Amino acid sequence: ARDQARALASRPAVTRDGVTVEVGANVGSVDEARTAAANGADLAGLVRTEFLFLDRDRAPDADEQESVYLRIAEALGGRRITLRTLDAGSDKPLPYLPAPGEANPFLGVRGIRHSLAHRAMFAEQLRAIVRVARRTPVSIMFPMVTVVGELLEARRMLDEAIGGETPDGLLVGMMVEVPAAALRARDFVPYVDFFSIGTNDLTQYTLAAERGNADLRALTEGLDPAVEQLIRAVGEAAGERVVVSVCGELAAASAVVPRLLAAGVRELSVAPSLVPDVKQTVRDA
Ligand code: PEP
Ligand code: MG
Repeated sequence: ARDQARALASRPAVTRDGVTVEVGANVGSVDEARTAAANGADLAGLVRTEFLFLDRDRAPDADEQESVYLRIAEALGGRRITLRTLDAGSDKPLPYLPAPGEANPFLGVRGIRHSLAHRAMFAEQLRAIVRVARRTPVSIMFPMVTVVGELLEARRMLDEAIGGETPDGLLVGMMVEVPAAALRARDFVPYVDFFSIGTNDLTQYTLAAERGNADLRALTEGLDPAVEQLIRAVGEAAGERVVVSVCGELAAASAVVPRLLAAGVRELSVAPSLVPDVKQTVRDA
């Protein structure tokens, strides 16, 4: 089965009843983008841009970001890349910003909250992403969105970075990884082209169980019914126009994939080496 999966890696993944599911890769470097291409990824469903911002003395400027994002797109042969804006916070501290000393970093100034608190840095990243989107297919998404106001403010800043004409093919979406956003998905629908469900954080916040805590693995490793219920709610809210994707680790679990598809998920994004197997799981579904 593994050999068959590899042989078909670059072919589309179509379910038995004829539904095409895009299978992308989560990448955190140019090298991982190369691995993703070699494994037949249909797109980069999640580019974790943090890798460019951590372990250095100052934030990368728009020129540097632009060139790295373009290299990722090139490594993928011009397939669509989903650039997630910086998902920093005191769980992933940046050496050049003062440490806020939060007692609960996962409940603190993370993701879009962090970007809206450091606007010059956010605007610089948006400028880089817009430039890249003028040259290659780009989706942009915002992490940790909790309320509609955050999405609207991020979109307003994106419009400012765009200036005049919107780049062809630019899609705008948000991660759904906070239960409040999943429960209120309908409110966000008018302002997005896609939802990308981050099951790592959605599970953590739904079950009040820290991701990565080995003692809580029994709670966090599978698809919990409460999380599944939230994913179904997002699928229902999304309707026909808004694409629902899953980019957390669960998207690679073969027992879980059919349940995600049943909930309306039409795109999966997984670690680059897992793309061929996940495509095969889709074909068997
Ligand atoms: C997630 O939360 O599921 C996700 C994909 O984002 P990250 O793992 O980078 O937090
Ligand atoms: Mg997350």
